[in-house]
Amino acid sequence: MSEGSVKKMGELLRQGARMLSDTCPECGTPLFQLRNGDTICPMCNKPVKYVKGDADSQAEAHKERLEESFRKKIDEVQTRLEEADDPALIGELTDTLMKLMEALDRANKLGA
Ligand SMILES: [Zn+2]
Repeated sequence: MSEGSVKKMGELLRQGARMLSDTCPECGTPLFQLRNGDTICPMCNKPVKYVKGDADSQAEAHKERLEESFRKKIDEVQTRLEEADDPALIGELTDTLMKLMEALDRANKLGA
């Protein structure tokens, strides 16, 4: 951490900014929240779009991918169900569809 950024941090604190437990994704310097609510990095000297943390955004991306694949499968099974005329196959596809919808519902609730 450079001397300049330490000085800048002191200035920020004097201005009433609050040091956050999160660090800048680019340089690792602790982030500061200004009194107007903006979050800035004193080192990069620019506003940082405040996210809850990398782990959370990764989980969110993972959740979206999961939901997307369930939706695709649901579409596929639905198409096959519409074309099916064998009762056994219809039963099987309906079962699969229900399971997929349940899975999608669960994925939706992840991290909610
Ligand atoms: Zn930074």
